[in-house]
Amino acid sequence: MDIIRRERHGVSFYACAHPAWAGTVHGFSTRLGGVSPAPWESLNLGANRGDDPNRVRENFSRFCAALGADVTALVKNHQVHSDRVRPVTAADIQSDPAAPGVFEADGLITDVPGVSLTVFSGDCIPILFYDPQARVIAAVHAGWRGTAAGIAARAAEAMVRDYGCAPEHILAAIGPGIGPCCFETHADVPEGLRAGLGADAEPFIRPLPGGGKFTVDLKRANARWLERSGLTPDHIALCTACTACRLDTFWSHRVQGNARGSMAAMIQLI
Ligand SMILES: [Zn+2]
Repeated sequence: MDIIRRERHGVSFYACAHPAWAGTVHGFSTRLGGVSPAPWESLNLGANRGDDPNRVRENFSRFCAALGADVTALVKNHQVHSDRVRPVTAADIQSDPAAPGVFEADGLITDVPGVSLTVFSGDCIPILFYDPQARVIAAVHAGWRGTAAGIAARAAEAMVRDYGCAPEHILAAIGPGIGPCCFETHADVPEGLRAGLGADAEPFIRPLPGGGKFTVDLKRANARWLERSGLTPDHIALCTACTACRLDTFWSHRVQGNARGSMAAMIQLI
């Protein structure tokens, strides 16, 4: 399964084109197609980045229209780099798309059609989940701490344990985020990854010449967590686009710091 770039009504986004995902509307936003000025130019979906809430509302309207999602049915978290995945229903909808999330968590899960699960990122790895048989969806935000803590596995486990999904039915899409080309770290990140994945972490850690620094592949580390949860490798799609390499398309926290907008990943059961 591939994640491909699409464009609709002037909004560019990434999505899984495989027909198995047809029971959802879903996508990963880029910075292209919105109304915000610099430094949020232009499709800023972050309500807490200093941008005008009216522009954030308009940007959400455009992104949701491009996806075919319901802009009045968003459910969000207050993201805290945890491994908490929150079960939600229609009661959790915040009707104003520019309202910031309140509950501290980094994942969302539901079996309620029409609820638009929304997670935010600006280098971190967004992951969307779908079980077409049980009709269950999830969305997670996995920075390095969430990746080390295995939030991708926590979401898959919750789908199986609490919603009756079979691991071999679950599809996962790992979206745009910082790649190993640009994610240079100190020893804390490799140590965190080893604490979570054990020896399975090694293929995703490369020491840099000179010692003391490393590059880390967070996307493939998340894919490994998903395989360990019983997902079929064929069912894990991975977007290779690097947010830090492609500032024409994305924002990068690593490169731009706090003077930037926020991307979102969204999924809704039809
Ligand atoms: Zn890169």
